[in-house]
Amino acid sequence: MSDPDEIAVVGAGLAGCLLACFLARRGLRVALYERRPDPRTGAVERGRSINLALSERGLDALRRIGLDKQVMADALPMRGRVIHPVHGELDFQPYSHDGQRAINSISRSALNNALLTAAAEQPGVRIAFDHRLTGLDPRTGEMTYETPQGVVQEKAAVVLGADGAGSAVRAQLLAHAGLTESLDFLDYGYKELRIPARDGEFALAPDALHIWPRGTSMMIALPNPDRSFTCTLFWPNSGTSSFASIGSPAAIERHFTEHYPDLIELAPTLVEDYRHNPVGLLGTVRCTPWHVGGTAALIGDAAHAIVPFYGQGANCAFEDVVELDRCLDETAGDWTRALPLYEERRRDNTEAIAKMALANFVEMRDKVASPVFQLQKKVEHA
Ligand code: FAD
Repeated sequence: MSDPDEIAVVGAGLAGCLLACFLARRGLRVALYERRPDPRTGAVERGRSINLALSERGLDALRRIGLDKQVMADALPMRGRVIHPVHGELDFQPYSHDGQRAINSISRSALNNALLTAAAEQPGVRIAFDHRLTGLDPRTGEMTYETPQGVVQEKAAVVLGADGAGSAVRAQLLAHAGLTESLDFLDYGYKELRIPARDGEFALAPDALHIWPRGTSMMIALPNPDRSFTCTLFWPNSGTSSFASIGSPAAIERHFTEHYPDLIELAPTLVEDYRHNPVGLLGTVRCTPWHVGGTAALIGDAAHAIVPFYGQGANCAFEDVVELDRCLDETAGDWTRALPLYEERRRDNTEAIAKMALANFVEMRDKVASPVFQLQKKVEHA
């Protein structure tokens, strides 16, 4: 049953669940709509486990709702990056001069589940799973959802789209409220591979982010609490050296033996993972404006999805939530003033990180292994 005074948050992903927690703390009634079933009761989709690098920007938001310690209990601090050349020695490059500062490897689904449980425990929050938003009148707050029981109509005072890069709320604002958008897809995709624990131990140093820079392709690996590593291979989608260029088990094995020789030994299910795991899209979403009066707005990837090379998409979405909460504080909860203020304060920051994320792709796939970078590093550390 919908309540017209409720705040609707569309999408129970990282941003949506955190936002529901912040809004409930303000004493607001919140309806959190999610197109999927409850993720806490189902299995993770194959090749979509993704672990995230959670940095201080994201941790700050979790601290504000008292969830940082619980989340950090399962996190693995990464104090630097380890470069894997095709041949030769591994090279550890610390993230700080004293080697103490770290980013934290955490499972995206575990983080999402922790936030979902925190949201569900807040008085005033109701969660509707299996609700896919298909229609929205941004001025009246009337929403249409497809559910397993059929189409349902709901209504809210304010509708906040936290429904990710392919946002249906954004599509509705595009259709009905004069929003404009640009979607820039890279001609690169990504595929997950796995390095399991070896004799019950990590097969690589667990306190680092591992990078295999290969020019046109690149792979990274982040540690997991079960002592495995999740690897993400970035490679063009098409062309002579691309995901499309190899398919047979023999060709996959040949390719990795030539370009990623140490992986062959570390990843016994490499060929199977490569053949069965999907290739994900990578792109940058820009749109303007992010809000319609005081009745609808976008947050997180729905407003500004970025490529993952700086590991900041989720951190940035968490910062959005903190800023929106601050704007509600400063405007005494007046949504018509809070939403434009939130957009004004976040837009330049999100544009900056979008550019830095693209630039870091070049850095990670090329420069971290280049002789010039190595020389620069020696000078910096001299
Ligand atoms: P999402 O997490 O996408 O959540 C959106 C939610 O909305 C989902 O639950 C979805 O099911 C739901 N939804 C969608 N459509 C509808 C609808 N019509 N109706 C109802 N519900 C709907 N970020 C980092 O900070 N650090 C990293 O290291 C990092 N690494 C990454 C690596 C890869 C390979 C990728 C792809 C991303 C990475 N990111 C990283 C980015 C991070 O995953 C995203 O920025 C983050 O998940 C955005 O959160 P969100 O809540 O805005 O969107």
